[in-house]
Amino acid sequence: MKTLLVSACLLGFNCKYSGGNNALPAATLAKLREQYRLIPVCPECAGGLPVPRTPAERQGRWVMTRDGRDVTARYEKGALIALRLARLFGSEAALLKERSPSCGSGEIYDGSFSGKLIPGYGAAAQLLREMGIPVIGETKAEELLKKKEEL
Ligand code: SF4
Repeated sequence: MKTLLVSACLLGFNCKYSGGNNALPAATLAKLREQYRLIPVCPECAGGLPVPRTPAERQGRWVMTRDGRDVTARYEKGALIALRLARLFGSEAALLKERSPSCGSGEIYDGSFSGKLIPGYGAAAQLLREMGIPVIGETKAEELLKKKEEL
């Protein structure tokens, strides 16, 4: 069975900055579990950040919290751990939470904490992509399943 690295919050782990999760619909989760071995990772927790935690956004190569703390090193550590896990389990891809400063793919918040989105990737999503592991946002989960069913 192929392996898929997945943002832990999409699997229902309460690892969001607020203490909640972003669990995918139960039917989608069931299909994912049927077709893949799912490897959960929360890069922010893996990097040593607590739950709950102050929201952070990428500002260029830095990641800053809303109250002005530089948490870049935590995000970089979490990204490396996500990559190590993906390699350890031979993940063919990563299904990650969109818009997150760690997991986001394609667009992320612009660093102003105003809700504005810009093109870009979260720290972990960027590293995974650079290392050749395709990153898929959660709104594409059904497409991923369909593609798998067609193989
Ligand atoms: Fe979810 Fe990723 Fe944020 Fe962790 S870092 S809460 S897995 S989006």
